[in-house]
Order: sequence, then structure tokens, then C-alpha cells
Amino acid sequence: MDTKNIEMITRMVIESLQKQQAQEQKNGFMVPIGVSARHIHLTQADLEVLYGPGYQLTKKKELMGGQFASNELLTIVGLKLRAIENVRILGPCRKFSQVEISATDAMKLGIKAPLRESGDIAGSAPIALVGPKGALYLKEGCIIASRHIHMSPKDAAQAGVKDGDYVSVKADNDRGTTFNNVKIRVDESFTLEMHIDTDEANASGIATGNTVTIVK
Ligand SMILES: [Zn+2]
Repeated sequence: MDTKNIEMITRMVIESLQKQQAQEQKNGFMVPIGVSARHIHLTQADLEVLYGPGYQLTKKKELMGGQFASNELLTIVGLKLRAIENVRILGPCRKFSQVEISATDAMKLGIKAPLRESGDIAGSAPIALVGPKGALYLKEGCIIASRHIHMSPKDAAQAGVKDGDYVSVKADNDRGTTFNNVKIRVDESFTLEMHIDTDEANASGIATGNTVTIVK
């Protein structure tokens, strides 16, 4: 190939890459949605109170980052003795027990659950758990989980964000909702996904598998 042809091809490739980049910037960084239904994380000790000594969670479905949805379900009870049945436990067991519910669930249970990041449970709402072999009262641990985006370091570089950043995200559907205060969480084990609860999903007309765009 002569020099002239090489120059021409190089220019075409560069132009096409620039066009693609401009289009991507215009569209924003796309993120698939995962809607989180109400769920429970337990310590091994608390699991044994509810299911008996030595009990191990059984796997129903793999989730990202080595987590899984278990087959085990509990009834959660608020202080006014209003209950929600069949709330799934996610595994593996953790250092702290935690119950994540929606704002609608909190109203149904008569609980003042604060909006928190997962794991931040100090001073959160009390709740009772009922299992097949026992019951448990948690003095704190019930929260409404704040929305967030999981991503790998590679995704973060592409999106131009870093761990701990807050972004806005736009859903381009009939309702056209923009979500502010969405926390970015970066880890090698994460698959790109934005987690919202069932209230947020229903209010904005978004379902698992739909995509939203980071608008920053
Ligand atoms: Zn999440």
C-alpha cells in the first residue's frame, strides 16, 4: 500500500472514532437497571436463631459480587404488629443483620425507616423477624436503601466518574424521570447496574433490564 492510501485510511478511521465518541457523549453513559425488592441480610448467629443451630442458607439465584438470593423467606413485623410475609434473605451471611424495605413497606409496617446506604444501620429503625424455628428482635437495622450504581473500575473510567461520586441519571421513557443523588460504587467484583427500589421503579415506570443515562 502506498503512503497516500495509508494516510487516507488513517484519516477515515480517526474521523469515524471521533464521530462515535461525540455520539457517546451526546447520549451519555448507559446503565442497566436492577430493581431491588425488599430483602434481608443476616449474621450467621441470627440465621441460626430463626432456622436452628448450624443452618446454612441455600442458593436460589446468583447475584453480582458473589452474593445470592436464597430460598429462605421470613416474615418481618413492625412495632404496631403489622407484618409483611415472604421476605427473601440474601446470602452469604454478613457481619450485621439488615432489612431493606421500600417507603411503601415502611408505611405498611408503621416503621420510620431512614434512607441510608446499605451497611449504614446505626440508629436505624427497629424491626422483628419471624422464621420457622424462632423469632428475633433487631433494635436497629431496618432502612430504605438509597439508590446507587455499581460499576467496575473500567466502567468508571469510561463514564468519567469515581467511587463515592454522586451523579444524576435520566430515564428516557414516557414519564421521563431524572434521579439526583445517585451514588457511584466502584469495585472489581461489580457488574454495571443501577439499583433502585420498587417504589422508585413503579413511580418512574422503569423495570429491571431497562437502561438509564448518566447526565452528571
Ligand atoms: Zn446494590
